[in-house]
Amino acid sequence: MIPNEKLISLAGKFLIGFESPAPNAKSDRQFCRDYLHRVNWKLSLSLLVIIVSGIFVSGPWQASSLSIVVLLILWPYLLSGLGTGFSTLAGWLFSALYLLANSEFSNMPIESFQSGLFILAITNVFGMFINYSHCCFAYRLFCRNQALQQMAMYDDLTGTYNRRQLIELAEREFERALRHKTNLAVMMIDIDHFKQVNDTYGHLAGDQVLVRMTQELKTHLRTEDIAGRFGGDEFMIILPGTTAEKALDIADRIRHLVNQVGIDCAGDVICFSVSVGISTITSATGSLSELITDADQLLYSAKSSGRNQVRVN
Ligand code: GH3
Ligand code: MG
Repeated sequence: MIPNEKLISLAGKFLIGFESPAPNAKSDRQFCRDYLHRVNWKLSLSLLVIIVSGIFVSGPWQASSLSIVVLLILWPYLLSGLGTGFSTLAGWLFSALYLLANSEFSNMPIESFQSGLFILAITNVFGMFINYSHCCFAYRLFCRNQALQQMAMYDDLTGTYNRRQLIELAEREFERALRHKTNLAVMMIDIDHFKQVNDTYGHLAGDQVLVRMTQELKTHLRTEDIAGRFGGDEFMIILPGTTAEKALDIADRIRHLVNQVGIDCAGDVICFSVSVGISTITSATGSLSELITDADQLLYSAKSSGRNQVRVN
């Protein structure tokens, strides 16, 4: 549970008695929507009470119309349903029964009832406005928090995982592979002579190459594979349950596909290639950083052997 969700839950609980969602049962966003929905219902209810009591005060209605008024008050609660609606309904019915059973009620001047109703409606409306503004504030905080979370996880340009998130996810996969004694491959991919692309066509064209590279990776990987931008023109892919042979096969496919890509740039076509280093987990692998370092060294070896090729341990 993130702190913001707690804040919204607390605000909901104390302001309108809204039940806190079970952990993980609802997202913050859903909770906020429900919250606003309830507040809106209560607000419309209060306005309805004001209108009805206004008619009641000025119009020709008598106490016999009380049942109609009670029904008008209740219907938004019935429609909004769920716990809050039903508990409020029970409260209203209990109060009505108490009033009807109380002999003094029949002697109560109708004006007292009218003014009581009127004051209730007005306070309700003010309360709802305060609740509403609290909820909007919490919602804005929630949205900002979401945006910050996105920024911390994803690369701005390509929209894939950034280095921080990649390492975090890779750690998880590494632990899992060790625990279940399954295969795991780490692939480091680097664009060849990327600096030349920038120098020849400009940085915006270079950015386009990085975005296209990301798209190529996304379309040719399985859902369980984790891909992201490790930094600059270097990408990392974590392939759970994958042997060295299979990883080599995947890397070669990616390399061939990249070779066929052409990006239009002011009448020119930018072509590029990639070099790949692949390391796989063995009984001797002590840590994730060891695995990444191995893949990096193999990538370096692919570069020094002429680029546009794959090296695997
Ligand atoms: P090599 O084949 O040895 O990898 O050569 P290279 O030119 O690709 O290698 P190098 O690592 O020297 O160049 C990477 C370049 O990537 C340098 C840097 O200016 C550029 N770069 C890093 N991040 C970005 C980015 O976000 N956008 C663009 N357009 N260029 C970037
Ligand atoms: Mg490069």
